[in-house]
Amino acid sequence: MSSNHLHGDLGPGLLEEVAPKVFSYVQPDGTWFINNTGFIVGESAVVSIDTTSTELRNRAYLDAIASVTKNPVTLVVNTHHHADHTHGNYLFTDATIISHTTCRKVMMATGIPDYRAAFPGVEWGDLRFRAPDLTFEGSTTVHLDDLDIELFDLGHVAHTDGDVLAWLPEHGVLFTGDLIFHGGTPFALFGSIQGTLDALDTIEEQGADVIVPGHGPAFGGREIGKVLDAQRAYLQFVQEAAAEGVASARSPVEQASATDLGEFDRLTDAERLAGNLHVAYRENPEADYEWVGFENAIGDMIAFNGGMLPRCLA
Ligand SMILES: [Zn+2]
Repeated sequence: MSSNHLHGDLGPGLLEEVAPKVFSYVQPDGTWFINNTGFIVGESAVVSIDTTSTELRNRAYLDAIASVTKNPVTLVVNTHHHADHTHGNYLFTDATIISHTTCRKVMMATGIPDYRAAFPGVEWGDLRFRAPDLTFEGSTTVHLDDLDIELFDLGHVAHTDGDVLAWLPEHGVLFTGDLIFHGGTPFALFGSIQGTLDALDTIEEQGADVIVPGHGPAFGGREIGKVLDAQRAYLQFVQEAAAEGVASARSPVEQASATDLGEFDRLTDAERLAGNLHVAYRENPEADYEWVGFENAIGDMIAFNGGMLPRCLA
């Protein structure tokens, strides 16, 4: 497999030292299964925040780490159970994998999901299942030499039931996982629209200088308020569309088709609207709505996408 196939027109992952010995690894273009990771280099060990989706992408990430340090990665944090963040766990052979208790539970129940039908053409590689070794709820602190890496959950469902954020207080760096899709359409099908909105408040209160989101470029300073507001605006737009759909007795997919995405049309993976609406209906107290299950909700995303499967360039 050539590296051309891996990167296509998207280009390789972008390695950036966002604080001393703290690196973000941002994979363009941040669409389906093309997520971000990051790592912190200690005197004799490395801590990685998340892994990535395909074997090739994980090997490229390992190469990026090796370009900075020969120290082994001894701890990997899974921010949530989704395959793009956890598939690579097995390649970190020297590492303990830590996650939220629920993240491990979901992974144990699903194993390696079979995405061949939903995302044909993706070269997943020789994936091996590796669940987290160590789990927690609430918060815990990783000590890398004299640097603290604070891991904490939200206490509620947001992107998933079992999201973990990683906070480096000395450097003001926050890894949010998929609570933020910078430049992409937020996706709450496995979680909660309102819970994701609440998570954005928690993120803002953290007062970070730099935020590494789960997808899309890292950002900092004055950009933080703008990015968080843009995420909020989309999620509130979904709630308003759901309220309109409920009042008009439309199904979520009918409401998706009746909705003008307007400014949100610029976000990648716009078909997520149909899935997000299912969640917003479920959370709307006026709705007489029965949850249809993930497969049907994903089917609606495909229907809303003109019958096409979501575009996946991973
Ligand atoms: Zn995710």
